[in-house]
Amino acid sequence: MKKTLLILTAMLFVGFTAPAFSAETVNTMTMSADEKLQAEKIIMELHNYNNEKMKEGYGPFVAAIYDKNGNLVAKTANTVVKDKCPLHHAEMNCIKAACEKLGTYDLSNKGLKMYVTAEPCVMCAGGIMWSGIDTVYYSVNSKDVQKLTGFDEGYKPLLWKAQFKKRGINLYGGIEESAGRASLDKYVLDGHKVYKPERQDNND
Ligand SMILES: [Zn+2]
Repeated sequence: MKKTLLILTAMLFVGFTAPAFSAETVNTMTMSADEKLQAEKIIMELHNYNNEKMKEGYGPFVAAIYDKNGNLVAKTANTVVKDKCPLHHAEMNCIKAACEKLGTYDLSNKGLKMYVTAEPCVMCAGGIMWSGIDTVYYSVNSKDVQKLTGFDEGYKPLLWKAQFKKRGINLYGGIEESAGRASLDKYVLDGHKVYKPERQDNND
C-alpha cells in the first residue's frame, strides 16, 4: 500500500514538473511514415545549417522549399540583422528565392513544400498564404521561441490554422523540436542579437 502511494506521489510530481515546454504537434498523425521521415530528415539538416549560419550572423531561423520530387528549390536563412531589414525572415526570403528561381509570383499547384525551423510568425503566415505553397512543416512552436529567445513572434488570429486548412495549406508542427530548441538556446547564450523595435508597448 505504502509502495503504491509512493509511486502515485512520484507520478504526480513528474506530471506537475515535466512539461517545461508546450510541445505542440499539429496534424503529424496524419502524415504518412515516409513523409514523416522525410520531414524529420530535412528539418534536422536545417537545424544544422542554422547552427552554421548563426556563426556568420544570420538566423536563428532557416527555411527551405522542396518540389514534389524532393528537389531543393530554395534554402535561406533569416537575414534581418545582416540586411538591416525587419521583413527578411527565413520564410519570406525563401518564398522570394523560390519565386525568382521559378519565374513566378504564384507557387500554388506545384506540390511545393516549405520546411522551417520554427513556427511562422504573423508576417510569414501571411506570406505563405499569399505565396500559394501547398504544405508547411515546422519545428519549434512560437510559444517556445518566445520563451527561449525573447523574440516577439507577433499576434496571430486564433483560427489561423483553420484558415490555412481552408486554403488547402497543410500544416505540420513539432518536428525535431528539441534540436531546434537547442539551436535557439545557443543563439542566445552566444550573445547574438534578439532584434525587436525599441518601442514602448501599451499594455492597457
Ligand atoms: Zn516570420
